[in-house]
Order: sequence, then C-alpha cells, then structure tokens
Amino acid sequence: MSSPIARRLARYRLRQRSTLAVADGIRGSLHLLPARQRRRMANVADRLRSCAVTQYVVARTPVDDATYVQVSNRRACKIRVCPQCLYRAACRDRKLLEAILTHLWQELPRARAILCTLTTRNRPFFSGLGDMLRDHRKALERFWTSRRIVRSTLGAFTAVELEIRGTREQPEAGVHSHSIMLVPPEYFAGDVPAIWHAEFRDLWRKAARLDYDPIVDVRVVRSPDGADDRDAVFGAIVECAKYCISLEGLFEHENPDTIHCDGLIAAAILDAFHRQRLHRLDRCFADAKKRLRLRA
Ligand SMILES: [Zn+2]
Repeated sequence: MSSPIARRLARYRLRQRSTLAVADGIRGSLHLLPARQRRRMANVADRLRSCAVTQYVVARTPVDDATYVQVSNRRACKIRVCPQCLYRAACRDRKLLEAILTHLWQELPRARAILCTLTTRNRPFFSGLGDMLRDHRKALERFWTSRRIVRSTLGAFTAVELEIRGTREQPEAGVHSHSIMLVPPEYFAGDVPAIWHAEFRDLWRKAARLDYDPIVDVRVVRSPDGADDRDAVFGAIVECAKYCISLEGLFEHENPDTIHCDGLIAAAILDAFHRQRLHRLDRCFADAKKRLRLRA
C-alpha cells in the first residue's frame, strides 16, 4: 500500500517517532549537562513527549470527495528541535511567503526573484555554535541594510539555518542562510546583473567581517525546464521555508524503526537558539507582510 495518502501518514508517523527520540535523547543526557541547564532540559523532554503523544493524525474520506489527512495537536511544543513542530512551522512559512510574493507581484509585476545562500566557515559545534549564530545574524543585518544592496534591490526574505556537519567525534556547526531577493527589472539591464557574483561575495565578506572569501551562491530562480517564471519561484520557496535545523546530523537510524538522537547536540542547539529570531524580512517583504496583516 503506497498511495500518496499512505506515504503522508507514514511521514507523520516517522516525525512522531523522531520527536519521541529527541525527548528520550535529551532525557538520557541530563546527567551530562551542566546543572544550570538540567531542569530546563528535563522540562523540554517532557513537553516533547507530550507533543508526540497528543498529535492526532487520521485519514478521512468524505462522501463524494477525495481522501485527506487531518492533523491536530493541542499540545504542540513548538520546540526548535521537535521534528513535528519544525514541519508545521516550515508549512506555515511557505504559505506566508507565497502570500507575500503573490501580493508583491500585483504591485510589481515585473520584479524578478533571485535566490542567494550566504555562508561562513564551519565552527566547532559545542564551543562555536552560539557565537556563530549571533555573528551570522549581525552580518545579515549589515548586509541587507548596506547601501549597495538597498539601492539595487527591492527587499528580501531570509531564513537562517543550521546544519550539523563534521564527524560524530568532532561535530561542527554550519550556520548559513537562504534568501529570496526581489529586484526591479532594471537590475538586469543589458542582460547582465547589477551586482555580479564576485561583488556579492565581497559585500558578504565585508558584512561578516571575514578574512577569507566565503562561499556565496546567487542565482536567478529557474525551474528544471529553464523557465524563470513565477511557478519556478514558488517551487524555490521550499529552499527558504524549510526546517531551520537540518535534522540529519541529530539522528542515527539503526534501522527504520529505531531512531537515536544525540541529546547533548539537541540541548546545545536549544541553548544557542533560545529566543533568537531566525527569519528576517527586509523592505518590500516587511511592508507586504504588514499590509497583509492589516487586510486579514
Ligand atoms: Zn513539538
């Protein structure tokens, strides 16, 4: 049985098992945590567990209509290492971005979208994560408000993301960000971009105050058939509105039914990400969100 509905249900069950694994991982590592963190993390583990057990997922088939999946959770924990809640948050962000872009294109029908990824070098996970996140957010602030960017572009939506890299013995933190940037049609006057890749990299290097050339990716959004239309942009939204914590480095899968989570890594993430905003909306995106809220 592998209908789309069955696959969706299976993914919900997998996320539920993963949330339980995070709860167990944190609970199992409490004795290794510094005393100041222990009580908070015990509470986090409890909330993750109740988030997992109260999630209610069922496939419904109304008469004369297609089957759909109904999900509810009265005790959603909204903790940033909860696979269930990260998934819901990513869906919400995607809808918000779609609404904003649809709204913006009514006013600026010829605006074009550029996808950019800004990175800096990995840092040691446990000692470097907190500073790396703070530094990245400050660098984004300087970058997106720099004169060159403000003058040539209309605005951007940016999502900060963490990837756990390195090895199990020496994990590394890879904080980076993905942005969708809107530019006026003049940006491509004469078919060349106003800001070339090398200048983009230099602007980011300056904003992040680096003494090396960082890896920066800037591209016009295109679909697989090469079109750079709005459908392609809506497809690319997924790149920006995905999990803010990439979960791959958090789990070990012994087999499909047994998932282990490294509780120390999860606790370190929660510590560093506590009350940190992971999205920024610059200029036209911030204005559009405000207007949409007024209309809602
Ligand atoms: Zn949750």
